Amino acid sequence: MVLTAMAALSHMALMIIAIDGPAASGKGTLGKRLAQHYGYRHLDTGVIYRAVAKMLLDQGFDLTDEARAVAAAMALDPENFGHPELKSQRIGDAASVVSAIPTVREALVSFQRQFAAGPPGAVLDGRDIGTVICPNAEVKIFVVADPKVRAHRRTLEALARGEAADEALVLADILKRDERDRNRAAAPLKAAPDAHVLDNSNLDIEGGVRAAIAIVEAVRARR
Ligand code: C5P
Repeated sequence: MVLTAMAALSHMALMIIAIDGPAASGKGTLGKRLAQHYGYRHLDTGVIYRAVAKMLLDQGFDLTDEARAVAAAMALDPENFGHPELKSQRIGDAASVVSAIPTVREALVSFQRQFAAGPPGAVLDGRDIGTVICPNAEVKIFVVADPKVRAHRRTLEALARGEAADEALVLADILKRDERDRNRAAAPLKAAPDAHVLDNSNLDIEGGVRAAIAIVEAVRARR
């Protein structure tokens, strides 16, 4: 099925699929699965901000130290994107502090745009992909889900990794992070005017993937 889809797309122009949404909305899983389905490359841009935050914490610097944070952003090494600690709640929270610094965001734009521009096509997920990084992306999906559902999923993921997780605290963290991401001045979390909203609250992974593919196919059919 993947091969059929790749063959069908091989004659088409490079496609960028932008997926944005709040913490734990399921956009990362959808991004990965869409990329597999279409044979595209996938970038979880949250990892970039998490990696910058981890560099600062590892070196004992303050998360609001702009000069150090920009230096960390410029020293970013994709080789470290797989570090298991990047997934932790602590680093996610730290990432949402660092990511509010406009100069840090600027330092990371070209990396993301270069990734998006490479063949055969790309899926990027984050907070500002459809609004700032790839405003011309052919398909934009804004994923939403009930905060309680998101907290439940994130708790199960943490427990599966062997981390302690209290669902009420996870929910509080998610709400705090959403608030910070939505209200910052630089590239706040919001749906692009031309984004398709996908409500993932009551969908399992396969249902979400089917809904996302349906959005991509509807856009392609209109071309
Ligand atoms: O998506 P994830 O939870 O990994 O992102 C961690 C944090 O990084 C977010 O809370 C957000 O503050 C920041 N982020 C961002 N822009 C992106 C991706 C993530 O500001 N494109």
